Amino acid sequence: MSEGPLEITRWCGTMPMHHHLLDVQPGYAEARTGIEDESFAWRRPRRETVVTVPVVVHVVWHEESENVTEEQIRSQIDVLNADFRMRGAGLDTVPAPFAPLVADARVEFALAGTGPAGEPTTGITRTRTETAVFDADDTVKHTASGGTDAWPADRYLNLWVCPLGGGLLGYAQFPGGAPATDGVVINHRGFGTVGTATAPFDGGRTAVHEIGHWLNLRHIWGDDGEGCSGDDFVSDTPNQGGPNRGRPVFPHVSCDNAPDGDLFMNFMDYSDDAVSVMFTQGQTERMDACLAGPRGSFLASPGEPAEPAEPDDLAPTAA
Ligand SMILES: [Zn+2]
Repeated sequence: MSEGPLEITRWCGTMPMHHHLLDVQPGYAEARTGIEDESFAWRRPRRETVVTVPVVVHVVWHEESENVTEEQIRSQIDVLNADFRMRGAGLDTVPAPFAPLVADARVEFALAGTGPAGEPTTGITRTRTETAVFDADDTVKHTASGGTDAWPADRYLNLWVCPLGGGLLGYAQFPGGAPATDGVVINHRGFGTVGTATAPFDGGRTAVHEIGHWLNLRHIWGDDGEGCSGDDFVSDTPNQGGPNRGRPVFPHVSCDNAPDGDLFMNFMDYSDDAVSVMFTQGQTERMDACLAGPRGSFLASPGEPAEPAEPDDLAPTAA
């Protein structure tokens, strides 16, 4: 664990980047509209196979401590493979009224074994940078601006790990944006479960949240500030006011959603890692639509049939 005061909070830069791209990137607004139209129209049974997404982790570091270990990287991959398969830590804490909503996204992640040119790789790149702290401005995604260039985004999930400023834990690019900036960026202090991962964001759930965005999920409160009119375009998540932070106590009621209240234990809220434990059925359907549409290249090789998660598979609750 890192020493010193924690200057990060649970906040994600995905929506500001989304609005920025709507303003400046030709074709992005049209691409997003098309993707949402497809997603709204999606009415198919759940995908039965498991999709395995090859991941390249780009470690971009300024201080030695930010050059995170392979152990820390693998701890993050392990969390992804638990949480996207409905066997992550803390699932037993889901309140009974919400238990029927819990769903297996049937997505797994593996460090890439083959690089863009067919060469063997560890799936990890390491770059020393002169940039002390990055912002949610995509500079970390380009070698020319002190970061590391993306690998082809139709074949790899690019995951940059770096120091982020402004209290930022991470941000993602929704499907439909430019390949050169496609992927997710994670603050090293909210990455994995060991090394520089720092409580209360040392459960690996920042990357789960950001990859949720990468698979087209929205924030569960609907990104309308504290209001009740915003929508996450998922029918089985309760309408809720603003984001929840820390460790809310069930039920936390907002927007007339009594008696059960907010689904604050969902990965797409802002609750602490120990509390963020589930995707819903509706969210997995939205991810299915994404993996059949804009991220369809990851379905190119047939996956293994999905085996239902058994209670015995549930990992122990994180400390
Ligand atoms: Zn977010």
